[in-house]
Amino acid sequence: MPEITLNAPALFDLSGRVALVTGAGSGIGQRIAMGLAQSGADVALIDRRTDGGLAETANFIAGTGRRSVEIAADVTSQTALSDAVQRAEAELGSLRLAVNAAGIANAAPCEEMDEAQYQTLMDINMKGVWLSCRAEARAMLAHGKGGSIVNIASMSGVIVNRGLNQVHYNASKAGVIHMSKSMAMEWVDRGIRVNSISPGYTATPMNTRPEMVHQTKEFESQTPMQRMASVDEMVGPAIFLLSDAASYCTGVDLLVDGGFCCW
Ligand code: NAP
Repeated sequence: MPEITLNAPALFDLSGRVALVTGAGSGIGQRIAMGLAQSGADVALIDRRTDGGLAETANFIAGTGRRSVEIAADVTSQTALSDAVQRAEAELGSLRLAVNAAGIANAAPCEEMDEAQYQTLMDINMKGVWLSCRAEARAMLAHGKGGSIVNIASMSGVIVNRGLNQVHYNASKAGVIHMSKSMAMEWVDRGIRVNSISPGYTATPMNTRPEMVHQTKEFESQTPMQRMASVDEMVGPAIFLLSDAASYCTGVDLLVDGGFCCW
């Protein structure tokens, strides 16, 4: 029998890798950024919020002994994103990992929604992910060391949330899932893997928006596991997809939804 060189725990180790996370000042992106640092990565933190969220993430990362850089940037600006990637590489090293979690949600009946509400959400949730991936992949293709990108989509890209009037949000997330698969195929022979995570209802500030708070109990009862996810529960799936443990996974949409889409 040939020598077995398998080292399963090492597959999940991100030591020495540089990561970039958008939406790193709150919720899912913030907790994933923290988890990547605990797994050994140095992390560039991007968010448009300037209320201390990025600093909170950076302080946590400093406590892990890893490095981070805080960058206030809007994911709808290609200039801001290319500057952010450039700064991340200048301060931390060649970009190998990226998680694109920045996004917004809101609701209005389709027939009443105005164009600005639709367009603003699409610009952030869909074009913002495309611009982020493009800036990240340009750096990864240039250094030639390969890379792994995870886009945060939603189970709303697969199902329609009962009781929530959000055609634009649902469409944007379906777009993120298919855009991720499409980019995965464009870069499959150039060392970049692209996957998405589709969370179910997750306890974050996004779910404190007015149209959600009264529905939380209902969402929990609609979920087979009978509860919302905590942000911590998005960290393991992100580490898995980013790491060498998922070296044969590309174009995957990983539903992390407490079983929601089974019913
Ligand atoms: P969150 O706590 O509101 O975090 C999202 C972060 O992204 C916020 O800091 C937000 O800033 C930032 N952001 C928004 N637009 C941006 C832009 N144009 N440029 C840079 N940063 C921007 O929400 P979350 O629940 O963690 O959501 C993270 C991702 O998960 C989103 O893509 C969301 O659609 C997805 N998701 C969430 C759930 C859930 O139940 N929470 C379920 C499925 C999918 P502002 O506060 O200023 O907007």
